[in-house]
Amino acid sequence: MKRSWRALLVNPWIYDFAAYNLWSEPTGLLEVGAYLLGMGYEVSLLDCLDRRHPDLRAYRIREDRFGCGHFLKTVVPKPDCVGHVPRRFGRYGLPLDTVRRELAATPPPDIILVTSGMTYWYPGVHFAIALLRQSFPGVPVVLGGIYATLCADHARRHSGADYVLPGDWKATLPALLAGLNLRPSDAPMPRYPAHHLRRNQGFAAVTTSRGCPYRCTYCASRLLNPAGYVPRPVDDVVGEIAYIVQDLQIPDIAFYDDALLVHSAEHLERILDGIMARGIRCRFHTPNGIHARGMTEALAHTMKQAGFETIRIGLETVSEATLQATGAKTSADEFARAVGCLKRAGFTGRQVGAYILAGLVGQTFREVMDTIAFVHSLGVTAHVSRFAPIQGTVEWERWVRAGLIAPDADPLLQNHVLPFPPGAPLTEAEYQAAVLAAREGNARLRAHSDVSK
Ligand code: SF4
Repeated sequence: MKRSWRALLVNPWIYDFAAYNLWSEPTGLLEVGAYLLGMGYEVSLLDCLDRRHPDLRAYRIREDRFGCGHFLKTVVPKPDCVGHVPRRFGRYGLPLDTVRRELAATPPPDIILVTSGMTYWYPGVHFAIALLRQSFPGVPVVLGGIYATLCADHARRHSGADYVLPGDWKATLPALLAGLNLRPSDAPMPRYPAHHLRRNQGFAAVTTSRGCPYRCTYCASRLLNPAGYVPRPVDDVVGEIAYIVQDLQIPDIAFYDDALLVHSAEHLERILDGIMARGIRCRFHTPNGIHARGMTEALAHTMKQAGFETIRIGLETVSEATLQATGAKTSADEFARAVGCLKRAGFTGRQVGAYILAGLVGQTFREVMDTIAFVHSLGVTAHVSRFAPIQGTVEWERWVRAGLIAPDADPLLQNHVLPFPPGAPLTEAEYQAAVLAAREGNARLRAHSDVSK
């Protein structure tokens, strides 16, 4: 009898100056895993970012009560184009020996599928593919994910993969497998990712929808999801959360939607009602940022009842002019109203925070500081992110026209850890001052009794 086909899924290392796991999970790769399992494949996962691997016990890597934490860092040489950055560059994730041992113990697969995250993490992808080629010569290697979508030409030229599949894998992988005579039968698309392929990390990531109806000038959502906002069926999401919490005993769930609150009366509220009706108890987090515009008193109360713990709202700036120029996804008034709804529903100032962008073309230091002060005046925390342009976005073009980045710049230069270049809207000193102001204000809020209200 012919044996099953075998697939090896690979979640590669992160190469960066800093990395922290904020509930990230390779959900696209696990969705591919569910699809292959549905066709009768034997599927295994090499997860270079497995923070609970037994080999890491000796390193005592801490995690917080919601499952977030650092990765093991192995210092590696800095690539030339970021050689000027006065920080140590590293490979984050499992020790190399551990990965080599795991590969040696893996039966030879018929196909290898590698995912990719941030564009500037590509050295980890390339290194993983080189290792896979040594371990399994002749086995086709397929690369998908964010880097493969946003920098497809770079990935085709440099990654070493046999096939680079940009965009939604559902549109390309079935035909590729058929072409390789590796599709034993037509299989339905999976209802949700095979989270059980991954060792329990204490959390899982769920997306209830793909894409976003807005078109912010700095955001890659439309490049990654050209169809815009597409919600998943409510029953599929409720079923996925039941499987995660009740079957896999995972207590924390991060929603990674781009637009979690869009059409919430027909979508998120029905999902949360379904979860509560089934008696599912878990904690929810929104690290991707939610839209202030979508918040209502009723939704805030339902979110509180359902177990939301961490709420981040994408404000970006308090300047109406900048908000209008970058996509008009919210306003300062809408943000204040959303915070009011959440506080009246019982969320504390610690649980609610605002994302603020610093360094957009046209922004001033005063604007960033005013935004931080505005957020703190509402009794919630401020989280400042350094703006770094993403290839293909409107803001990328603005940076190119302003001479702040070369049109053919290495993807490593899209890293938001890098200092601002000379001529950027903010100086590095101003950015550091803004980060400090946010931190100090957050600390004052946490120390102040009002933060619990
Ligand atoms: S609203 Fe958020 S996800 Fe949507 S385009 Fe703007 S930044 Fe991106």
